[in-house]
Amino acid sequence: MRHHWKRLSSILIAACMAASLAACSGSAAPADNKEAVSENAAGADTGAGDEAAPAEASAAPSQEAAAPAGETAAAAVEEAAAAGTGQAAADDAAGDAAADAATTAAVVADEGEPIDHVDYQVLVNKLHPLPKGWEDVIETVHMTNSIGDDVEVEKTAYEAYQQLKADLEADGIYVDLDSAYRSVEEQQRIWDDFTQKYGDDYTRKTVAVPGYSEHHTGLALDLYLIVDGKDIVENEDLITYPEIWEKIHEKLANYGFILRYTPGAEYITGYAYEPWHIRYVGMNEDYSTNVAMLISASGKTLEEYLHAVPVADDVTIDYGTSSVFSEDERKDAAVQVECAFASFEGCELHSLRYAGDEACTNENLEWINSISEDTGTKYTKVAEFLTDFHSPVHEEIQAAWNPDQEYKDYQWWLGQTEDGGWDVVSFGY
Ligand SMILES: [Zn+2]
Repeated sequence: MRHHWKRLSSILIAACMAASLAACSGSAAPADNKEAVSENAAGADTGAGDEAAPAEASAAPSQEAAAPAGETAAAAVEEAAAAGTGQAAADDAAGDAAADAATTAAVVADEGEPIDHVDYQVLVNKLHPLPKGWEDVIETVHMTNSIGDDVEVEKTAYEAYQQLKADLEADGIYVDLDSAYRSVEEQQRIWDDFTQKYGDDYTRKTVAVPGYSEHHTGLALDLYLIVDGKDIVENEDLITYPEIWEKIHEKLANYGFILRYTPGAEYITGYAYEPWHIRYVGMNEDYSTNVAMLISASGKTLEEYLHAVPVADDVTIDYGTSSVFSEDERKDAAVQVECAFASFEGCELHSLRYAGDEACTNENLEWINSISEDTGTKYTKVAEFLTDFHSPVHEEIQAAWNPDQEYKDYQWWLGQTEDGGWDVVSFGY
């Protein structure tokens, strides 16, 4: 059972990694915790954030209508707003499902021996935590960026970055570092702080899980642009310079960097396209190969390069047919459901299917918009998915479920925003 769950949770977390989370250089995290709270505060791709994804409380398999689950999530946001974090908290909720999934991953994270050297090809994502001992072996340096912030970076990555920066400047492109190294401790502090202020559920929904951010490695760098002498820092502004990013991306591999969250690979990396988030992978162990060159030439993600893409072989997925949504849209939506399901601790997902176009009514759209009002998100389309899953036998985690029971046709309601992003807005019976 344990083993099975472990495998299943990997699948789900992998799916969850497709939560289309945006912007590590987020603009909407609460107050001074701006960077550290979550990988995905408001910004470029918040469209697919999961404002209403599952807090465990709302995941209780009561026979309630689907609406109350959504209300629970909305209430949490409301509560946070009342507590003074306001819209920032609502936007930041985008990372919830990912946080939930990663929390689950923490169950299996404590394996393996501590590392004794910096592995520049280390994989840290919502499925793979920072290796034990990492923080003892990395050497970091501090720099001050153009807006006066202190940024800490792994030493070799920083040297490579300086070369990249100089090369770019020769072409009239000016970049600086918004965020790089972020300690697990710092993330834990925020986690604890949130837990104390808003409770466990809300924290799990809003705060990136300590240990599962690539920024912990010191090898992930968030760039910002300086255009005509002006600092362009916010994600929503940064994405308006695609031609500049393209020129930057062309040079990355020369200096050992890859673009980490490439477009169209959300389902593998767990992040929506982030033009600013680059990752130092450097040379291979005997310095004979520029790994960044290999990876970028192959068009692969780091996950693919490292053969670390889990396969969802245990779950039957039926995307159905639709005249409302393209197959890709239905796939993206299904991933959001898998992602949200990942917080159903101990539950085994058996099947997932598109419920059909008949659920895409104006009435349902109004309903999901009404329960999401406080998040500030406006949905233009609605979709329903159904799942069958089995609740856990284990007593310690069955609290929210009738133990060892097959739940059939469990509903998931998703909203699609204008930019095509999906959120799980509500779930239940
Ligand atoms: Zn980043």
